[in-house]
Amino acid sequence: MQNVVIIGSGPAGLTAAIYTARANLSPLLIEGWQSGGQLTTTTDVENYPGFPKGIMGPELMKEMRAQAERFGSEFVTGDVTAVDFTQPPFSITIDGERAIHTKTVILATGASAIQMGLPNEKRLTGHGVSTCATCDGFFFRGKELLVVGGGDSAIEEATFLTKFATNVSIVHRRDKLRASKIMQQRAMNNEKIAFVWNTVVEDILGSEVVTGVRLKNIVTGKTMERSCAGVFVAIGHRPNTTLFTGQLDMDEKGYIRTHQGTATSVPGVFAAGDVQDSHYRQAITAAGTGCMAAIDVERFLEANEK
Ligand code: NAP
Repeated sequence: MQNVVIIGSGPAGLTAAIYTARANLSPLLIEGWQSGGQLTTTTDVENYPGFPKGIMGPELMKEMRAQAERFGSEFVTGDVTAVDFTQPPFSITIDGERAIHTKTVILATGASAIQMGLPNEKRLTGHGVSTCATCDGFFFRGKELLVVGGGDSAIEEATFLTKFATNVSIVHRRDKLRASKIMQQRAMNNEKIAFVWNTVVEDILGSEVVTGVRLKNIVTGKTMERSCAGVFVAIGHRPNTTLFTGQLDMDEKGYIRTHQGTATSVPGVFAAGDVQDSHYRQAITAAGTGCMAAIDVERFLEANEK
């Protein structure tokens, strides 16, 4: 029987592990096969306090994991395939085989990249279509690339890709960016970046690998084909909560509803990070709620043991 099981290994999960380990709760953290969360697919993190020169996302996660390990957190690698939160002790099944029982749970499963939903997008994923510039940018040295989206992710991906590409076009469905002003300015000042406004990707072209896209201007209705070697989709994220559907209260987009800090609708089950935050979605806010969840767990166990 565990005191606390943490599901997820991004900033929320690892911060919860650091705090619960230091509170002598011997946390068990289940990290998926792609450990480290979304920051492992990002480049320079310039806004995480304590790193005035910035730090690479994967490096930051490695350091957080080492810190959690230092205080005695236990790690299990595998995918959680089932959970039962009907009554304590809660049960968590890993890879369909191993069931773990625990007094409390911290859910920190984060969110995943949304895709456009085009048939050729799926077929050509890994062959020119990507949602991760850090992972795949290197393969596009000297090529023309396209990034879809108008938020911080799109700008960040495009800026990173200019290290390799000859030019990067950002295709956005409106004529205004959602990205923060500083990121916008950086992209506007980058001579390798161009914007294609009021435009959506109608299709991705190529039989074996991406050779281009068909774009549609949604104001004029005109379509045009454009050649490119890669399409990076950066149109937002969806919370990873399918597994918990029906067991916890969630909002209409599937984010877990929390109250009084990180408590969910089931006493003893807590949620931290992007899985319960559709608004701020920053590494530092995820880490902050991970800390809150750890303290909430500690107080919950204390109250119940009394
Ligand atoms: P986001 O802010 O939700 O932006 C998604 C963008 O994709 C929007 O511009 C949206 O268009 C567009 N979009 C959505 N669905 C689309 C579709 N089906 N087809 C075409 N375009 C579509 O997502 P994000 O950029 O991933 O950022 C998420 C959060 O992480 C934000 O809070 C952001 O500040 C943060 N973040 C921060 C950093 C950083 O500070 N370094 C880096 C990355 C992300 P509309 O604008 O028309 O809605």
